[in-house]
Formats: sequence, C-alpha cells, structure tokens
Amino acid sequence: MAIFPVPILSRGFVDRDEASRLDPRRVIHLRRSSRARYVLLSGEALAARGESGLEFVGAEEALARSFDVDAAYYLGTAQETPYFAIDLTDTFGTDANRAYPEAQIGGFRWCALVAFGNLWPELDAALATEALAICNAWRQQRFCEKCGEPLRVLESGWIAVCSRGHPTYPRTDAAVIMAIFDDADRVLLAQNARWPGTRHSILAGFVEAGEPLEKAVRREVAEEVGIEVGAVEYFGSQPWPFPRSLMLGFFGHTSQSEVDIVADHREIARAGFYTRQEVIAAARAGEITLPRRTSIAAAMLTHWLGSGDSAGNPAGDSAGSATGGVTGGLEAASAEEIMSLFSW
Ligand SMILES: [Zn+2]
Repeated sequence: MAIFPVPILSRGFVDRDEASRLDPRRVIHLRRSSRARYVLLSGEALAARGESGLEFVGAEEALARSFDVDAAYYLGTAQETPYFAIDLTDTFGTDANRAYPEAQIGGFRWCALVAFGNLWPELDAALATEALAICNAWRQQRFCEKCGEPLRVLESGWIAVCSRGHPTYPRTDAAVIMAIFDDADRVLLAQNARWPGTRHSILAGFVEAGEPLEKAVRREVAEEVGIEVGAVEYFGSQPWPFPRSLMLGFFGHTSQSEVDIVADHREIARAGFYTRQEVIAAARAGEITLPRRTSIAAAMLTHWLGSGDSAGNPAGDSAGSATGGVTGGLEAASAEEIMSLFSW
C-alpha cells in the first residue's frame, strides 16, 4: 500500500477528550482555568498573527473583553492545554471574510485559514479547522430536524437538543475529490465554469445519499467530463469547513484520453490531460492557476508532481498503481518550487 502525504489541515493532533466533554462541570472548570486558550472566530476568519500562527487569548483576557466564555466550544487538549473556540461573529461581523486574506478589526488581525493554514504550526491549523467546523455547524443547524423546535447547544458544544430532548450532532458533508490518470500517467485537470480566470483543479463532488465513495468518484467524473474511471485508490482525507465538508481524496485510473472528454459545460468549462512537464510549464507561464496550497488537491498534485522523472515519466515501478511511484522527483523543479506554483 502506498504511503501518501497527510494533507495540511489534517496534520496537527488535538485530543478531543470525550471524557471531559461528557462532564459539564469539568468543562466549566476548564473554561476558566489559567491554562485555557481561546481560538477566536468572526465569520470564517480567525484571530491570528499573520503567517506565524493563531492569536490565542487566555480566559482572563477573554473575560476582561466580555467575550462569552460560557458559550465557547471545547476543542480538546494538546500539550496539556485545553483549547476552546468562541464565535465572535455577532461582535465583529463578517467583514473579515470580505477582506481576504486578512483584515484588522477591533484590535485583532483576522486571517483566512485557506490563505495561512499551510504557514501556521500544524496544531494551529488543526485547531483553526476544528473551530471553524464547529462554529459553522451551529450557525447553520439551528432547528431540530425531527420536530423543528429551536436547538440549544449543550456544555461542550458537540451536541444540541430541542425542547423535546431530541439530540442533534454537528453535521459533516462527505465530498470526493479525485486525481484521474490516463495510461501515460497524465493527470486530468478541469476548469469549473464558475471559476474566474485560469484556475484549474482536479474534479470533485458531493457524495449522494446511499452512495459508496468509489461509485461517487466514478459518477462525478462521468457526469462532468464523460470519462470512465476504473481502479480507484484512497489517498487520504481533509476537513474543509466551508461550511462543513470532509474531502475524501482518491487517485483513479482511466484508459480513455482527450478524445473521450465531453465537458458538461454546466459545471465544467474545459478539461484535459496534462503531463507533469505540461502542468509545471503551464503554471509557470500563468496559463493555468493551480489550487490553493492548503487544499487536499494541492497535496495530491504535489505528490504526483514529485513522483516522476524530468521527462514526465512515472518513477519506479508504477505497474498496478493508479499513481505511479513515490520515489524520484522532477529534476527541473524542486519540491519548494512545485509548492510555489500553487495559489496562496
Ligand atoms: Zn426535536
């Protein structure tokens, strides 16, 4: 089984500490302890120190600023520090989202996870991802899906109940994202009809109700570009809390090629197969814009770009693998340069 790199937002480890979650008195104590650290959110932006990481706030400062620490969601512990998230959207508004990648509002520097996540320490990126996910979940899930009554989020933030006691948990939407390779180990890149400029990426789509992941991969590729996918191989996953997706990455193989592509023109404007050299040359020339560095698409493409030789051939013995080898590397482009080709 191939070993694939872990996507950026999936790297840091936070112990979600279920034992404390289930003990409301313990969570109340942890919220006010001197060790507690708060992750601050406003809209989808996080209080941060630019490239160096999140701007954590202690309980004392949070209380001094009149932040509602009793409504903070418990993210778990890391390095013996309990972390919480406070949703300050009602205080600071959503202007921070509009000033991408960052904005100065109310004495804080608000930064976008997608722009800074790959620069922050792994733990900060993981905490920011979890904080965004839980805040987005409860902003969207306000009513019980069984009876329609308003929901009340309980102590730690990971369950809400209505007045009749029906429990609701934060929802995650599964989405597949797939790098499809042809017999010449070229990758299928497409331009979404809604994307401005020259942005290209691999294909992606939501998993439908009652659908296995592998079939979702094949269905989405067939629907969007008319290509039949054979073998698929799991790459890894990354939460993408905008607002509540979990991206499940797959490598897939097709024995079809350009002549078989039928872009649906509803979601996909154009699509084609590219060698490693062609991807790098087109990105360098500005003919295509590659995905953001924080995305799982970037993790999948950089892995593939680094796994072949400078002639664009797969490294090592790629027989039976949808992805080629994992050794070798492009002589023409260093790992750093490959990453620099992706969007900020
Ligand atoms: Zn209910």
